[in-house]
Amino acid sequence: MLVRLLYASRAATPMNEHEFGAILKSSREHNQAEGITGLLCHNEGVFIQLLEGGRNAVNARYKEIIDDARHKDVILLSYSEIAEREFAGWAMGHVQLSRLNRAMVLKYSETGKLDPYAMSGKALTGLFHELVSAGAIACS
Ligand code: FAD
Repeated sequence: MLVRLLYASRAATPMNEHEFGAILKSSREHNQAEGITGLLCHNEGVFIQLLEGGRNAVNARYKEIIDDARHKDVILLSYSEIAEREFAGWAMGHVQLSRLNRAMVLKYSETGKLDPYAMSGKALTGLFHELVSAGAIACS
C-alpha cells in the first residue's frame, strides 16, 4: 500500500544552508532505511516536502516531522493512495530553486510567487514534476 503526502511549513527561525543540509542528510539516511522517497524544497523560510512510500512508514515519518521544533505552521496539502511512485529516484531530493522561474510558477499559481499556503496540492505536485523534468533536483 503506497501513499503520497505533500505538506508545507515555515521555518521556526531563519535557517542557514548548514542547518538545512543537516535535515537533508538525516532525511536521506532515515528515508532510505524506511523505503521513503520524495523531494524537499526550502525557499524564503518556507518548506515544501513530498513523501512517497508505504502508508505506515510515511504516516509515522510525517508525525515525527510535524513534531520537529525547527518548523511550524505545518499544513497538509495532499494525501493520497497511489499505485506507483512518481518520485522514486530520491531518498530525499533537494529542489534547486535557482532553476525555478516565474513563468514556471505562474503556470501553477495565481501570482507567480511560490507560496504553498495559496496553492493547491495538485498544483504543487505538477510544479514538482516540471522541476524534475527540468533537472532541478539534486541528491547530494
Ligand atoms: P535526531 O535527529 O537526533 O533529533 C532528535 C530530536 O531533536 C527530534 O525531535 C528533532 O526534531 C530534534 N532536533 C534535531 N536537530 C535539531 C536542531 N538542530 N534544532 C532543533 N531540534 C532539533 N526526517 C526524516 O527522517 N525524513 C524526512 O524526510 C524529514 N524531513 C524533514 C523536513 C523538515 C522541513 C524538517 C524540519 C525535518 C525533517 N526531518 C525528516 C527530520 C525529522 O523531523 C526528525 O528530526 C527526525 O526524524 C528525527 O531524527 P532522529 O530520530 O535521528 O533524531
